[in-house]
Amino acid sequence: MEKILNYINGALVEPINNAYLDNYNPSIGKVYNQIPDSNEKDIDLGYNAANEAFSGWSKTPKEERSKIMMRIADLIEENLDELAKAESMDNGKPVKLAAHVDIPRAASNMRFFATAILHYASESHEMDGVAINYTLRKPIGVVGCISPWNLPLYLFTWKIAPALASGNCVVAKPSEVTPMTAYLFSKLCVEAGLPKGVLNIIHGMGPSVGSPITTHPGIKAISFTGGTATGKAIAKVAAPMFKKLSLELGGKNPNIIFADCDFDKALKTTMLSSFANQGQICLCGSRIFVERPIYEKFRDAFVAKTKQLKVGNPNDADTNLGAIVSKAHLEKVLSYVQLAQEEGGTVLAGGNKVQLEGELSEGYFMEPTIIEGLAFDCRTNQEEIFGPVVTIMPFDTEEEVVDMANSTEYGLAATVWTQDVGKSTRLGASLASGIVWVNCWLVRDLRTPFGGVKNSGVGREGGFNALNFFTEQTNVCIKL
Ligand code: NDP
Repeated sequence: MEKILNYINGALVEPINNAYLDNYNPSIGKVYNQIPDSNEKDIDLGYNAANEAFSGWSKTPKEERSKIMMRIADLIEENLDELAKAESMDNGKPVKLAAHVDIPRAASNMRFFATAILHYASESHEMDGVAINYTLRKPIGVVGCISPWNLPLYLFTWKIAPALASGNCVVAKPSEVTPMTAYLFSKLCVEAGLPKGVLNIIHGMGPSVGSPITTHPGIKAISFTGGTATGKAIAKVAAPMFKKLSLELGGKNPNIIFADCDFDKALKTTMLSSFANQGQICLCGSRIFVERPIYEKFRDAFVAKTKQLKVGNPNDADTNLGAIVSKAHLEKVLSYVQLAQEEGGTVLAGGNKVQLEGELSEGYFMEPTIIEGLAFDCRTNQEEIFGPVVTIMPFDTEEEVVDMANSTEYGLAATVWTQDVGKSTRLGASLASGIVWVNCWLVRDLRTPFGGVKNSGVGREGGFNALNFFTEQTNVCIKL
């Protein structure tokens, strides 16, 4: 059986303890390869390599760093088909989605930060003939990047690209649930000529690999994307060590549909914002609020379209939903459907595991699910489910829907559908959310601030925000 390897000091290597974990293909419910079950000794190796490489990489001219990152981006594109198939096999998502979204975005992430660093400037403050201050932006040193399973290569590169562009060396951990494309990416880094030790990718579990990254005294900054509970655990150990922290965490995003919306566009996009990637995108809108005059019309059309979605083989071009990422996650998502019914909800569509045939008969498939009749403040409407399950509720006034939308502990993204500019600007201001999309969803300009408020995170990624995070400032004051 194929073994995934760690990438340390420029080489693909076995974990020190020679122990491996099973890696499942969620579409067939079977182990298809093995991944290193690394531990703190591998993290030490990775750290030492990164620390050694830092002096060279941080002094490498920006143009040279940029060129190497552009080569990596080119290689991602040259290997798009292989990477998309690998992402689908590891995660369960349709190949089509990986080929159109995940892998192209990974290449864009590398290119975006490879060029952003060439335009990155710092400030100068002149004191009326007394002195002049200028601010240096220096790389931090060795930084840690930890990413989740839902958009594996997409989010992995979103972290390491700004870290590398700004001259840091990296110890990175992809999710143990979806390690494959990070492994393939490490091969592309070797091929592109990334100097040894600049990036180290170490595979394994959260407690044995993620945790030693966050507690390592030499790793000075942690960029983490994942669940809120994990983010809290990381903050608890990293904050007293005065590490810089960027935390992109969970969400329970509202999708607010006013009666004056463009109905067809709102409906079409709501299909995607509810069920794309099996609802496993932190930005998916899982609570749908519809203004009462169009509630029944919208609900009925949404239910009818949802029942037409095809849950099936991720390799088929007409599949809308592939497999849920793991057995444990499928069980968690199904348990929320059960909870919703206990809380008085009615399942209008879906709600069940899907039994496919042949080699997919043991895969982790689930119907796209819509639930009606729940109070806005019940557990189903407050806790992150992170699967193909949405709730739908009517509302009467703008004030009421803002209160309901803002009622959760999260504040990552919100979507608003209205043709009234006044209403959209008022909601843009009153929704407690890091991102508000009006008449669209998942439209991303990589220069914009990305992140959440409340328990959805701390800090912002995107554009120069990410380069600011991965650099330290020194103000130099020269007396004139
Ligand atoms: P987890 O928090 O379970 O895991 C994220 C990463 O952290 C994984 O690599 C995991 O390893 C690792 N990890 C686990 N425990 C520790 C620890 N104690 N110390 C350090 N690292 C640790 O999240 P999921 O992978 O389940 O991802 C889903 C979550 O991610 C959802 O809540 C979703 O909302 C959120 N998310 C947020 C986004 C945002 O931009 N705000 C974007 C995408 C997802 P392992 O896999 O081995 O457990």
